[in-house]
Formats: sequence, C-alpha cells, structure tokens
Amino acid sequence: MTEPAKATSLQETELLVTGIRELVTNDPSLERGSLGLLHNAWVLVRGDRIAAVGDGTPPAAPRRLDVGGRCVLPGFVDSHTHLLFAGDRSEEFAARMRGEAYSGGGIRVTVRDTRAASDAALRAHTAALVAECHSQGTTTLEMKSGYGLTVADEARLLRLAAEFTDEITFLGAHAVPAEYADDPDAYVDLVCERMLPQCAPLAKWVDVFCEPHSSAAFDADQTSRVLEAATQYGLRPRLHGAQLGPGPGPELAVRFHAASVDHSTYLSDADIDRLAAAAPHDGPVVTFMPIVEFSTRHPYPDARRPLDAGVTVALASDCNPGTCFSSSMPLTVAMAVRDLGMTPDEAIWAATAGGAAALRRTDIGILRPGARADLALLDAPSRIHLAYRPGVPLSSTLLLGGVPTPAAAPLFTGPNAEPTRTTTEGSPA
Ligand SMILES: [Zn+2]
Repeated sequence: MTEPAKATSLQETELLVTGIRELVTNDPSLERGSLGLLHNAWVLVRGDRIAAVGDGTPPAAPRRLDVGGRCVLPGFVDSHTHLLFAGDRSEEFAARMRGEAYSGGGIRVTVRDTRAASDAALRAHTAALVAECHSQGTTTLEMKSGYGLTVADEARLLRLAAEFTDEITFLGAHAVPAEYADDPDAYVDLVCERMLPQCAPLAKWVDVFCEPHSSAAFDADQTSRVLEAATQYGLRPRLHGAQLGPGPGPELAVRFHAASVDHSTYLSDADIDRLAAAAPHDGPVVTFMPIVEFSTRHPYPDARRPLDAGVTVALASDCNPGTCFSSSMPLTVAMAVRDLGMTPDEAIWAATAGGAAALRRTDIGILRPGARADLALLDAPSRIHLAYRPGVPLSSTLLLGGVPTPAAAPLFTGPNAEPTRTTTEGSPA
C-alpha cells in the first residue's frame, strides 16, 4: 500500500480565499479609507502567512475557499483576557444585579478555587474558553495570570498560559490575597522580591490592577514599585487603570511607557492630554472593554475623548469570571458603537488593528503580504453587520495561522478540496 505524495513545495501549500464581497484589510498603503476596504476581493495564503491580497480576477491556486459573497476581516485581537481560572461566580453576578456594588473582592474567591484546581482541570477549562474565542473570530488573545497570588501558583498559571498563547502577562499584582489583607505592602514585597524572579522568565508583559478605589487592588506607589521591579526583569508594562474612578493608572502608563492602559473608564482631561502628547511617540493605547460596564451596570466610558485627541484606541473582552464573563469581540464592537460613541469602522479597527497595537504587534490585525494568515469570516455582506446585528453569531475564524478551521470546511471548492483539521487546543493564538 502506497501513501499519497505529501505536499512539500510552497506552491502546493497555497490556499486562495475568494468570493469576498467586502474585505477589511486595515492596510493603510491601499489608500482605501481607515479599514483598507476591498470589494470582490481575494486573499492568497502561503503556509501561515498572507502572500497576496487583491480585488478582481484572482490568481490560480491549488486549493480554493469560496466564501460566497460574505465579508472577511482580520481575526479579532483580544488584548486583555483572564482565561486561566477555576470556579463559578454566577451567584455574585446575580447579587450584583440585585444592587450590590463591585469592590474587586470577588477576585479572592476565584483565587481560592484556582489554587485548589489541578493542572488538568485548569487546562481543560481554559482550552474550552480559547475554543469559544476562536469560534467567534478571535485569532490572537493575551492571557494573564493573577488568580494564583503565590510564587508557585502564579508560575503555574504562566506555564499553563504558554500552552495557549505567546502573549502572556504576569499579573501577580491583581489583588492583595486574603492572607495579606492586613499588610498589602508585604504582598508587594513578595511580588517584587520573590515572584518576579520566578515568573518573569515565563511572561512577556507585566500588568497591575492599579485602582485606589478598590481595597483589594494597588495604589500609585505600590503599582510603581511593581512596574519598576518588573521592567528590570525585562517585562513590558500594561496596566489596569481608572476602572472604578479617576486614578493614577493612566499617568503611570505614560510614565512607564506601557503598551496599553486598560479600562480607562474615568480618564481625566489631564490624562487625555498626557496620552495625546505620548501618542506620537508610541504612547499607551487606551483599551476599552465595554462588556465590563454592561456586566457591572457601570457607566460607559466616552471613547470619543481619546479618539478625538489622537490617542490609539483598542477594544478587548476582559473575559474573566467576575466582572465580564464574555469572550465576545463582536458584542464588544456592537457596544462600543452603541454606548462608547465609536463609529462601526472605528470599533472594527480597534478590535483588530487596535488590539495588535496594544500588543505592539505589526503582523496581526492586518491583512497584507507577510502578515499572519488569521482571517475572520462574517456571515453577512458588510462589516457593519457586526454592530448592526448585536448578539447574533455571525462571525467565526476562517483561517488560524493559515490553517482552515471547521468553519472553512463547507467552503472548499474544486478538485483539491480537503478535509479540515480542528485548531483549538494548543494552537498559536
Ligand atoms: Zn482585566
């Protein structure tokens, strides 16, 4: 019995995506508006990269996917998630909906449950959530530690995160754990002196929940100590800031050259001025996560203020078990349009190219030659349906690093149509 010859040459691994009624490229060099829109378009993929993008007559390719007049866009880049946790806090959500305020203390409940969970249980739970993200069109996601809060548990979460993504964030300063409630500065000592040496080699980013309005979070001095120590270990900063009220987070983000300041629900005029002044010098991206405000019945931020000041804005899910247990980037886009004052095009850019900017990446969030072949498919003729049809499952991942997902299976045409592989657990994200 002979095996069929395996495709070996680059040419043979080419895949053409065609039949695209509307293609969002985010490529400014096309000079087709802020989203680099092409119509009647195609994308040629070689291996895990985009080889060419165009409109009109497509080139020949050995494998062909016809999306039948739908919209294709770069996969969503979710630059802020907390997907490594155990336990269920749905009762806390119900209590909040009965009128109890969010104080940040619920994080300690998840810390207790996460410490008690086995590696296998955590891995299986997170794999299911990552698959949920992919099924909705998210192709890159950042993942934070922060529910361990001991040296060993934080390191364990970072090792597990590496099974799912390269965008790994050390968030040892997520909350002061219960055992340090009477002495938060001693916990900051632990983070700086014992956690960082163990955890820094396992992460790319450092994050701090800088929020003087929460008794479980960290003030300006504590945040500065963690960021100073972490940057000495080579970690790059990003911050939770100004979520529950005006605070020092945005100013610290500028001072420490953070890639992003996230939440930013309460930006002061001075914050906007600082962020705008830093913007031309690779200053922090402002990342809004409106499902948090939705799920906590909190007032929404006004995205127009940073946008109109020239600050780069990203959208992310903040999927976490307490304040926002949703991984939906499409719903995030819809809310940003409905409640944050963004146009559909601004929101779509922020959820793709904006997320890439918040991760300081130029190979994702954009569809141009050389970029990663991460494509989202919208079961609609226009990108605007993302905001126009909230809550409707229109988007899915079509290609993840060039690999067709189950959503692509029915779209293969021609003699070289092939079965698809699933691309969930352990895949690059
Ligand atoms: Zn968060």
